[in-house]
Amino acid sequence: MLIYNLTHEELVQFLLDHGQKKYRADQIWQWLYKQKVQSFDEMNNLPNEIIDLLKENFTLQALELVLKHVSADGTMKALYSLSDGHLIESVLMKQHYGNSICVTTQVGCNIGCSFCASGLLKKKRDLNAGEIIAQIIETERLLKERISYVVVMGIGEPFDNYENLLKFLTTINSPKGLAIGARHITVSTSGIVPKIKEYAHMGLQVNLAISLHAPNNEIRSKLMRINNAYPIEEVIGAIKYYLSVTKRRVTIEYILIDGLNDSKETAIELTQLLKGLNVYVNLIPYNEVIESGYKRSKTETMEAFYDTLMKANIQVTLRKEQGHDINAACGQLRSQHLT
Ligand code: SAH
Ligand code: SF4
Repeated sequence: MLIYNLTHEELVQFLLDHGQKKYRADQIWQWLYKQKVQSFDEMNNLPNEIIDLLKENFTLQALELVLKHVSADGTMKALYSLSDGHLIESVLMKQHYGNSICVTTQVGCNIGCSFCASGLLKKKRDLNAGEIIAQIIETERLLKERISYVVVMGIGEPFDNYENLLKFLTTINSPKGLAIGARHITVSTSGIVPKIKEYAHMGLQVNLAISLHAPNNEIRSKLMRINNAYPIEEVIGAIKYYLSVTKRRVTIEYILIDGLNDSKETAIELTQLLKGLNVYVNLIPYNEVIESGYKRSKTETMEAFYDTLMKANIQVTLRKEQGHDINAACGQLRSQHLT
């Protein structure tokens, strides 16, 4: 088993079960998450007995780099092969506030949104927590710099891989682990209602983003068939529940698709739906996926949509920079290499 799959507690238990001292777990985590070693032999403050024990029970190598691409603005896309040969991608973005990574949580995605390249690939399997963590560690190695922001917006629906997601969040947030601040971590979901409610009680101050993309069921069901299982009223209900429990602002993601969800009336309907909620709307220019047949909204339409929200006092941003567009960056490598 990949050693990154063990929480600190589980590692302590493993050591105790094997007649070793508890404090060895701290030393091992120091090597894993601070020194980021690539072999157990490098853990040179451990007795050979423990190194052998680790070698017998665990592996350290989760990902193999297949390809990387760095664009002019510093965005780096890395294509990795998992131990069973499946390919996944991570995207590193250089922001003015620090390095931010977009990680993948599943091989493919079963939610099947009609606009999304990932949805075209049926889910092959969930990533385990260690494979999600390894994307950060491996990418830091390539970059030779620390990554301090994480967005869970790569391929996959994180709330459809909930246990591994929680383990991942706990380890990367832990001061003994990667020590990434909870407020620097954002998880995006297509709107799995029961999990949003569960997540409200998760205990870490991690940010939540909801992929809404429409203000009513008619449009949303066209884009996201998950809306048939969890219609928009229930998603809004879950957001309200989350807001009341956590008192934390929620991000609403809204991709703008030409002629589908970008009209003035639709914008007004969205303002009515979100009025009074502690949310912030992130308008995202659609990154065209040929198979979907959808087109990106015209710039003037996007700006008009933005203005309607602004005038209704809804907090809103419109992403403009293609290279810095997390979603665009996350979708593209896959469509070229994984189809
Ligand atoms: N499954 C989760 C997280 C991964 S998708 C979710 O759906 O929220 C991350 C974000 O990228 C979502 O808001 C999704 O709607 C958006 N996205 C997917 N394909 C896109 C595309 N072609 N252009 C722009 N945004 C896209
Ligand atoms: Fe899956 Fe998210 Fe893509 Fe929908 S948008 S298919 S949920 S990855």
